[in-house]
Amino acid sequence: MLNQKIEKRSTSEINRYGLFAKEIIFKNELVWSPTENEIKKISVNEFEKLPVDDKQIWIDHCYQIDDYFQMDTDDTRLMNHSCDPNTMDYPTDDPTMIVAKRDIQKNEEVTWNYLPFMNPYQAFPCNCGSENCVEIVKKNAVFKSDR
Ligand SMILES: [Zn+2]
Repeated sequence: MLNQKIEKRSTSEINRYGLFAKEIIFKNELVWSPTENEIKKISVNEFEKLPVDDKQIWIDHCYQIDDYFQMDTDDTRLMNHSCDPNTMDYPTDDPTMIVAKRDIQKNEEVTWNYLPFMNPYQAFPCNCGSENCVEIVKKNAVFKSDR
């Protein structure tokens, strides 16, 4: 479930729609935790058998955890990637929960690092504008500071 202080807006500079803080969200505050009925989950094998159009929906919205693709069915799916995100996974690299990495100011876009959860079907140009930008978000992409 998404933190109630967060709402969908069409004013994102990253990708038209995005999620924004309606009021300040404090460092370490819970941003999102999974709720079973807000997540669809299929195995990679099931994904391989889908018709092309259904596959594309998964490619556009899913994140991979181990051998499963997961997709949020609520507004969480609109959380954009940033190479300098203001949220982080907790525990690290396992989004059992997503928490604020620092204070997120009112009207600031809430962003997440997609990189640990990309699958080989996904690749898109990054518009995050951070100094650390990977430029193309894809599996195994590397931040500038790590190159
Ligand atoms: Zn970027």
